[in-house]
Amino acid sequence: MNTRCLWFVLICCAAVSVWAQIPTGPQQEPAAVYLLKPTRVFDGESASLHQGWVVLVRGERIQAAGTAADVKAPAEAKVIEMPGTTLLPGLIEGHSHVLLHPYSETSWNDQNALEALSLRVARATNHLRSTLMAGFTTIRDLGTEGAGYADVGLKQAVEQSIIPGPRMLVVTRAIVATGSYGPKGFAPEWRVPQGAEEADGENLIRVVRDQIGKGADWIKVYADYVWGPGGIAAPTFSLEELKLIVDTAKSSGRAVAAHASTPEGMRRATLAGVETIEHGNGGTPEVFRLMKEHGVALCPTLSAGGNSEAKRASFRAALDAGVTVASGSDVGVFAHGDNARELEAMVNFGMAPVDALRSATSIDARVLHMENQLGRIGPGLLADLIAVEGDPTQNITALRRVRFVMKGGTVFKQF
Ligand SMILES: [Zn+2]
Repeated sequence: MNTRCLWFVLICCAAVSVWAQIPTGPQQEPAAVYLLKPTRVFDGESASLHQGWVVLVRGERIQAAGTAADVKAPAEAKVIEMPGTTLLPGLIEGHSHVLLHPYSETSWNDQNALEALSLRVARATNHLRSTLMAGFTTIRDLGTEGAGYADVGLKQAVEQSIIPGPRMLVVTRAIVATGSYGPKGFAPEWRVPQGAEEADGENLIRVVRDQIGKGADWIKVYADYVWGPGGIAAPTFSLEELKLIVDTAKSSGRAVAAHASTPEGMRRATLAGVETIEHGNGGTPEVFRLMKEHGVALCPTLSAGGNSEAKRASFRAALDAGVTVASGSDVGVFAHGDNARELEAMVNFGMAPVDALRSATSIDARVLHMENQLGRIGPGLLADLIAVEGDPTQNITALRRVRFVMKGGTVFKQF
């Protein structure tokens, strides 16, 4: 090596060492560490509560859960004592409409036809905050009901911490067969804006892909609805059309949720391969057996479906058939933040409180394909945790007394 070469190498080395010392961005804050000390823990699955357990959270995840003797907290951990409370996984709402507000305030028709998109989005930001503060840390929002793709932007606003809200899975506009959805009651000559996207036949492939492209995590389809003369619910899409929807969604790794209340609508949706059936009000023992056979979950929306004897009987038939019951309320039809109403209704309809709690935690997480992230309290899972006053396995109304809310390790409601 001659002198000139040596100098070149030395200069290069110096340049590299200087470059290596240049800070590449703002220093990362060390992850926050919390030690949560409730009176008892419901882990999302086990029927027996863990008395005296503590939960250690580091950054956005749960690091450890167990007895105080087993879980060694580091000195920097912020200890939160929560006497008298039950700590449980953040609740999951399987069926919401954050862009709707209660029909008792404004009819569905008028919300669709008369309310500006900006007004609806402004309301939705409040709805998301109320939902999170009520202890629901994840929602599957099943249709914007005329508000286009506004759910996609709202989801981004939550993810970017612009507004507080639960984790969101969205479907955008939802898919309906031509003529089957609303608003209704107009002269047949008028073409009025629909509350969902109309499509039929081969065109369903394009519409499913378009909704996915615009941000749909799931595809929502109406397999039956009240339409045409007679004013009763009747099937909309053919089995072949439903299969087209499911196959197109599935080929990109997405699942389909079907609104269905008639036995025939439920049967077609099940055979087509949807993963959840919403409402299922008219479900018969036969159709629930078929759902069980095909591994289709029922999201019964008891809170929105009224307290009729018929609904009670069909829910009983679903339980007897061993169908997976996902917790989802159709909130939006009633006030956001009142989501616990669904778990109360499940108990009122004969479910054990602990089963209702499982449904809204570990079972919903599995139905949403998020069981490796959510729905249980265990090491490595996201720290979506809430504390309620009392013991909800003894009295489900304890869910109304939410004292602490953490989502992804961030505290939103302080004890
Ligand atoms: Zn709905």
